[in-house]
Amino acid sequence: MKSIDDVARELGAEIAPCTCAEVRNHLFELLDREMEDAEMGRLRAHAESCPECTEATQAEQHMRQIIRRSCHEPAPDSLRVRVVTHLTRH
Ligand SMILES: [Zn+2]
Repeated sequence: MKSIDDVARELGAEIAPCTCAEVRNHLFELLDREMEDAEMGRLRAHAESCPECTEATQAEQHMRQIIRRSCHEPAPDSLRVRVVTHLTRH
């Protein structure tokens, strides 16, 4: 398995090295796409080649999916009605 340094060396000097700390610091901007394309591409390239940063971005994305899904769940009232209907039917 290649190290990040090896990959960076192969890609050449035009791509500035990117650290894990940098990805973590800009994780929210990266996921919100609130960055310049060049900067985002650089961090994304690191995140995709670094297992730890891949995990960090996936964890954050997963968290956002859960939050988004919970917003779409039926309101507590309609849920209660359904439960009551179910209980009284049996
Ligand atoms: Zn990393």
